[in-house]
Amino acid sequence: MSKKTLIIGGVATGASVAARLRRLDESMEIIMFEKGEFISFANCGLPYHIGEVIPERDSLILQTPQAMKDRFNLDVRVYSEVTKIDPIAMKVTVNSKDKGSYEESYDYLVVSPGAKPMKPPIKGIDSKKVLNLRNIKDMDAIKSYVDNNKKGKGIVIGGGFIGVETAENLVERGLDVTLVEAAPHILAPFDTEFSMVLEKELVERGIALHINDGVKEFREDQGKIYVRLQSGLEIEGDFVVSAIGVTPDTEFLKDSGIELGSRGQILTDKNMRTNFKNIYAGGDATEITDYITGGRTTIPLAGPANRQGRIIADNISGMENEYKGSIGTSILKVFDMTAAAVGINERNAKRLGLESRSIFIHPNNHAGYYPGATQMTIKLVFDQERKVLGAQAIGYEGIDKFIDVIATVIKYKGTIDDLTELELAYAPPFLSAKSPANMAGFVAQNTVDNLVDNVTVDDFNRDFDKETMVLLDVRNLVEVENGAIEGSIHIPVDELRARMSELPKDKLIFIYCQVGIRGYIASRILTQNGFKTKNLSGGYKLFNFVTTKVDEGTEYMRNNLEIAPAMNEQTGTTYNIDATGLCCPGPLMRVKSEMDQVEPGDILKVTASDMGFFEDIKAWAKRTGNELLSVNKEKGLIKAQIRKGLKVTDDNTIISCANTASKNENMTMVVFSGDLDKAIAAFIIANGAASMDKKVTMFFTFWGMNIIRKPEPVSVTKNFIEKMFGFMMPKGSAKLTLSNLNMGGIGPKMIRGLMKKKNVQSLEELIKNAVNAGVEIVACQMSMDLLGLKEEELIDGVKLGGVGYMLSESDDSNATMFI
Ligand code: FAD
Repeated sequence: MSKKTLIIGGVATGASVAARLRRLDESMEIIMFEKGEFISFANCGLPYHIGEVIPERDSLILQTPQAMKDRFNLDVRVYSEVTKIDPIAMKVTVNSKDKGSYEESYDYLVVSPGAKPMKPPIKGIDSKKVLNLRNIKDMDAIKSYVDNNKKGKGIVIGGGFIGVETAENLVERGLDVTLVEAAPHILAPFDTEFSMVLEKELVERGIALHINDGVKEFREDQGKIYVRLQSGLEIEGDFVVSAIGVTPDTEFLKDSGIELGSRGQILTDKNMRTNFKNIYAGGDATEITDYITGGRTTIPLAGPANRQGRIIADNISGMENEYKGSIGTSILKVFDMTAAAVGINERNAKRLGLESRSIFIHPNNHAGYYPGATQMTIKLVFDQERKVLGAQAIGYEGIDKFIDVIATVIKYKGTIDDLTELELAYAPPFLSAKSPANMAGFVAQNTVDNLVDNVTVDDFNRDFDKETMVLLDVRNLVEVENGAIEGSIHIPVDELRARMSELPKDKLIFIYCQVGIRGYIASRILTQNGFKTKNLSGGYKLFNFVTTKVDEGTEYMRNNLEIAPAMNEQTGTTYNIDATGLCCPGPLMRVKSEMDQVEPGDILKVTASDMGFFEDIKAWAKRTGNELLSVNKEKGLIKAQIRKGLKVTDDNTIISCANTASKNENMTMVVFSGDLDKAIAAFIIANGAASMDKKVTMFFTFWGMNIIRKPEPVSVTKNFIEKMFGFMMPKGSAKLTLSNLNMGGIGPKMIRGLMKKKNVQSLEELIKNAVNAGVEIVACQMSMDLLGLKEEELIDGVKLGGVGYMLSESDDSNATMFI
């Protein structure tokens, strides 16, 4: 005789069980009960229909009872709530809209009622204006509020995945949105640094964010709802979406004899079987195994629910199958950003007493030189035994790919060494030859192998003592000028070997750079020379993220300058410039050189991927008298429009205003050294200053002359001594050596390779750009005479000058450098 399976709940787990079971057993009688109107709907898409990102409501309803009947011969009963289970008599009681109350017997029972929104005993929570989002009916209710309050105010309680997605979608509909979170930060699967980045994104998008402040009371008054917070603050809105969290929907099981956990979750064995051998349970209502720790947990996500459904069907049909546990792989969109996490975060690792380590990296999603590269921030958590415990990633593109790779490695109990060995699909538009997963592995290896002592921002904030330790910034000057950690001393990494004596050997040196790589190099240099160092993983970029307080609700306006209305009219030709993949100051230099070519009134539309460009272009436009029409961040790219030399006055008159850099803002540089590293630094600074419309004069003297020598032999008349000097001295920039660690020519090759990889222009390109940008390159006449160099031996564009010329230029400058 054929057997009969009843399924309670007709969405993720329930529908998966039903379809798989039918495919395995054509003779089984299968009845699926669903208390709501719809089965197999896309819960995960609900917020996006409210936001009208998913325009068609029907596209969320994946199956109908009739379609399930036709395809799988299932008896699907909607509006049918199971209210009681009798495991001994093997029957359930059903409360049906059409048929009233009746009993149904079973051979197998599957309990998959999911989880319902939590409803803590807060005064006023039963108000009709406090809504939840679990199913289509809830979605319709929220959407109708939005449709009827197009300029209204929505308040979202809870900064979890559903709360954040809902808040975003309310913003998409043009509402004024407030998000309230009781915990110190939103999105618990992420560590604080990542949550803070996402909080900033929400605030920049206009959401008023209140964290660390729970709800005390809801109160309705004259068609409005008021939310009073623990802090005493009261927020007015038209409606509230409460997304505080979920709890297993298992109240009806209380007296059934099915074993439940302390929070109402159904307990099962590894086959998803309850304490009754013919009753199975799966999905959000069940407690499952944490795959990494082996402990017990609940993970209300669609992937585990669907897979558990399949496993249950296998077991009912006699194919033994086990659910081995969940690693909580999750992802969400926060406006243009993507955030994803898997496994154990650092906070939980500490809570569990695991001896974990963490590293940060900021790789590009694909080769930096291929247009459109965007940066991601990655945190990898691993233990001393090198096992990967978890990862978090945030950025614009490629986040899903990275986190899925890590999820796979964790699933196979992989190590940081396995990450370094992964061979992933690479071509410039898709990835870098060393993928972010490889890079994470490399940095983790360096940490565990004690090549560098990488520390987190938290470690730094806790451990750094300015009295007994040194904070060393190894970035270049342009970066330091944009912001630095208070109390740090500045020695660029390329000067570190020469200036090591400025550092104390008896003090611990905390090193930082922009993202962590140069800090690592600096740390290697110093530790091999007997210094004690630690490197700030994630660098200044991460430090700045987590220590900068965002002004609620105001940042978005500040960060997205819109075109001034009077300037909308066309005043010239528009040119598009792609500066993606270029590192600072590359995008600015590109703007400067293009701006030099165009006419007043012409507009440059610039796209850059270097996040620093967002602030740089504002300062540049202001300084050079060009008009910044708009600048905004879009999917990891900075887009700016700058009009050459026109500006609107208060009375709406358009006037010309370009090239206002004053005389005393010029810069003079004396380049004495002929070392490759110093030459690079000199030309980077010169190009940066030139891009700010400063007049730059570089005065080359003594060994600095070698930088501006032509590489090819030039036929000139020289005496014996002059010939000897000419023979011994490097002929041009390509032959320069490093001031330190030259290693028979390997050092310069490494530096040049690194620059290429990091999209920093080569010294030769920097020289060419400087000449094109109008940097005045002056060869010291006295040095030429002394070394026997002739004018013909110098690169094109060099003029000869004496000390007097240099001093008069220096008088007109507000900075004179000696390199
Ligand atoms: P459900 O899918 O909730 O199905 C349970 C069904 O059982 C419900 O329809 C309920 O009405 C019915 N039921 C309950 N009790 C009874 C009863 N006594 N008798 C009859 N029927 C009953 N997960 C992700 O992984 N990614 C996402 O992006 C994501 N986004 C989400 C967005 C929203 C708004 C929501 C609400 C959830 C989201 N989830 C997401 C979670 C995911 O939807 C759930 O993990 C998954 O649906 C759980 O499946 P389940 O079968 O356990 O429960």
